[in-house]
Amino acid sequence: EIKQTNTDMAKAYVKTVFETVKSRNANEVEFLQAVKEVFDSLVPVLAKHPHYIKHGILERVVEPERLITFRVPWMDDHGNVKVNRAFRVQFNSSLGPYKGGLRFHPSVNSSIIKFLGFEQIFKNSLTGQPIGGGKGGSDFDPKGKSDTEIMRFTQSFMTELCKYIGPDVDVPAGDIGVGAREIGFMFGQYKRIRGGFEAGVLTGKGLGYGGSLARKEATGYGAVYFVEEMMKDNKLSFKDSTVVVSGSGNVSIYAMEKAMQLGAKVVACSDSSGYIYDENGIDLHTVKRLKEIEYKRISEYVQEHPHAKFVSGFEGIWSIPCDIALPCATQNEIDESAAKVLVANGVKAVGEGANMPSTLEAIDVFLNNKILFAPAKAANAGGVSVSALEMAQNSSRLSWTFEEVDAKLQDIMKNIYQESVKASEIYGAPGNLVVGANIAGFVKVADAMVSQGLV
Ligand code: GLU
Repeated sequence: EIKQTNTDMAKAYVKTVFETVKSRNANEVEFLQAVKEVFDSLVPVLAKHPHYIKHGILERVVEPERLITFRVPWMDDHGNVKVNRAFRVQFNSSLGPYKGGLRFHPSVNSSIIKFLGFEQIFKNSLTGQPIGGGKGGSDFDPKGKSDTEIMRFTQSFMTELCKYIGPDVDVPAGDIGVGAREIGFMFGQYKRIRGGFEAGVLTGKGLGYGGSLARKEATGYGAVYFVEEMMKDNKLSFKDSTVVVSGSGNVSIYAMEKAMQLGAKVVACSDSSGYIYDENGIDLHTVKRLKEIEYKRISEYVQEHPHAKFVSGFEGIWSIPCDIALPCATQNEIDESAAKVLVANGVKAVGEGANMPSTLEAIDVFLNNKILFAPAKAANAGGVSVSALEMAQNSSRLSWTFEEVDAKLQDIMKNIYQESVKASEIYGAPGNLVVGANIAGFVKVADAMVSQGLV
């Protein structure tokens, strides 16, 4: 039982620290949003364990251990000099080497990188794997760039980044705009500069040079495993349900694949220019070829499937009636009004494949309407989980079969679900997985920080 005085003290503490975070990170709206969501969840845990307050855990956990900003000069195919800005945030190393992806997208700035890095701390903790939290990226826009431009940019990016990373220090991977091709170029450059084959420095590598089977599928499959577990607990399932999945990148494609394997009909997906609606069910072969091989726009889908329709503007995708919505595109893609439309159309479950795809107001709409809601930190942790398994394989110089990795992924996702449910019950918010996941992720990090002293 938690004493009222402790609850008041915890609330006051959270408020004071958040005020400092706001003044120190003015205008960093995405970062402040991510911090607010976590802090609001933590009041009961701080009330029950006031020693976290004494140890200044919140003040410390919101300040990155290190934020590196660097210049990336490169030359385009016409001989013009270009300069981009890049970041690596090494947020928290209490559980292991910094771990988290790299994002190449014009929207990238310190706020975006810090929100992603902050979330990564708790997500990585939830996986139960020995990995700390980090994130990086650049405002480079890969759209419309040639292969050689991508290569020159990523090589220049790695020439600087390599000073700060290593298999036991910081292990980047992919995120938006960074996939197998970019990881390959970066690994080649890192190897050349280091003069040694340090396989564990990056994850998401190609299968021929240290990559793990099932890494490509892991985020999308993991999100569906998580949602299936949540639905099973509520006597529901993917079978015979109608599903809308935003995005058409790595997360989205494999979320669609697993949902289909479980008997769902996926009727829509999107990219930044718009969405496609195919009432017969999306043909995944076409999407994979367009996106993974040809780097084309999703609108091309209708050339081959003339009965399907393309609608420009990606936000409209949430007006399609569905049983299960899987936002797998980007942050804040579901706002309050989109959430209300989904609820009005009878959505039963929402699973976040992307990072922070729902605004705080949208989350409230889902929770207040008792929609099953799988928050990003928990639901999309499958990708980084298999990254940790890739690191383990690299260290042991072994490679496991697809079935082995997939079985471990399923176990991890079930475990994250159970732990989140348990924490939500212990801390007085039964069924609220936002609170449950934040607390379950936080406690391990906080305990490790307490044990390791004031660092
Ligand atoms: N970018 C992914 C995420 O948001 C994967 C990170 C990784 O594998 O390190 O979790």
